[in-house]
Amino acid sequence: MPELPILQPSDVTLMIKPVGALCNLDCTYCYYLPTKSIYDVPEHRMKLATLEAIFAGYLPRAADQVMICWQGGEPTLAGLDFFRRMIEVQEKYRRPTQRVSHALQTNGTLLDKEWCDFLRQNGFLVGLSLDGGVGFHNEYRLDNAGHGTHEQVTQGLQLLRDRGVEHNILCVLNDKNVRQPKQLYQYMLGLGEDWLQFIPAIEWEVDPARPGKNRLASYSPPPRAYGKFLCEVFDIWFEKHRDRVSIRIFDAVLNKLVHDQMPFCILDGSCHTQMTIEHDGAVFGCDHFIERRWQLAQIGEPAWRNPMDISGDQRVGITIHGDGYKPNSELSGRDIFGAEDLQERYTALELGDRIDAGWIDRVERQRTGAFAARKQRLPEKCLSCEWQRLCYGGCPKHRPSGGEVEETTMLCEAYLMFYGHAMERFEWLASYLRREEQPPPPAPTPQPAVRTAPMTANADARVGRNDPCPCGSGKKYKKCCGGL
Ligand code: SF4
Ligand code: SF4
Repeated sequence: MPELPILQPSDVTLMIKPVGALCNLDCTYCYYLPTKSIYDVPEHRMKLATLEAIFAGYLPRAADQVMICWQGGEPTLAGLDFFRRMIEVQEKYRRPTQRVSHALQTNGTLLDKEWCDFLRQNGFLVGLSLDGGVGFHNEYRLDNAGHGTHEQVTQGLQLLRDRGVEHNILCVLNDKNVRQPKQLYQYMLGLGEDWLQFIPAIEWEVDPARPGKNRLASYSPPPRAYGKFLCEVFDIWFEKHRDRVSIRIFDAVLNKLVHDQMPFCILDGSCHTQMTIEHDGAVFGCDHFIERRWQLAQIGEPAWRNPMDISGDQRVGITIHGDGYKPNSELSGRDIFGAEDLQERYTALELGDRIDAGWIDRVERQRTGAFAARKQRLPEKCLSCEWQRLCYGGCPKHRPSGGEVEETTMLCEAYLMFYGHAMERFEWLASYLRREEQPPPPAPTPQPAVRTAPMTANADARVGRNDPCPCGSGKKYKKCCGGL
């Protein structure tokens, strides 16, 4: 195993959660909601002193180009005034040559013209969570009253488009939509969206048949179905859209092949490239593990040390959805922070709150290393796997023990199917991007378990629009692959 690099501020991306896990919706598979249970107070709002300390500690020592990701819960609940103040604080600590970019992940339901103008003017990249058409989206993306949110989310999308905000679509794959790859992909393209992420909702629940063991949550996509999804979307994308549609996992693989850089931590060698900061200044290695065991620092408390002993035989907890969370029906307004409340807080800050700019030096390196190293705990199957450099056993959260023992990700079968099916064409694309001499593109590699659509120009010419689709779906060609 390569030695883990020591964490440096310039190496890491910050994810900031200004309202912790609070959200105005109640999506079935939200893995953030249970993290509220680690807090015993209802206040989930970042103070401006905490915000200023984050920037005071980070920006002066960060790289010339940094990306800050704003996450929730629903981060827009912090209010537009909070984000305006954030830009002011950023400008106070940013070096003149330093470029700070922002990304915001949102459910889109609280966006309005004012929000969109702010996001455009400040160059935010907005990720909008949309799980497909109304049937797919409303299956699990519900409000606190249990109603589907497709209409509100697509209104938010329209606003982003109308006001010229740079955005992409994050589509969470579940047990339903993962089984309709063409339909889902076609829906996104039909919206005119060509910057897409498909993220499998991998969560765990107690297995009643095996005491003490977990199983995949009922709404999680079965690994084999996820593998088929990747293969089928890849086939269409490669044949029709590879020059204009960005799909995050495909881009990540190409980056690795062309530049030897993996921008997608799940497929990278360790978990050392980001820090997540909760609303109260608690610093964690990743938002997938908001657990006291993995807390790395506490902004605003110089004497803080994590009291948990990482050298003992403690097991890494994994997220079990459904324990301890009660929907907060009060969270239906636009902003948690009122402007007056914010002004009061900010005035107090200007009058002399001490800013803890030294927190980044107190990030516990031993614990950071221990957190990152869990991804490197690989079984023999991974160590001898031909795709190891494109997977490294996947995300520890996707392993049954959460990375505590040597084991593969639950998605191993999916990755084996996908790489086996697509790699020849990935390699061909990579050589094109490296500007090497280019033979004709290779034909799809058939996989016994994967139904691949013959998407070649010849196949298009042979099949009539009203003929059965050659992919085997049973639909007319024009309603299936021929409609893409
Ligand atoms: S735990 Fe998973 S999501 Fe978090 S840094 Fe590691 S691979 Fe990435
Ligand atoms: S594809 Fe499977 S065996 Fe190969 S590195 Fe990934 S998890 Fe391990």
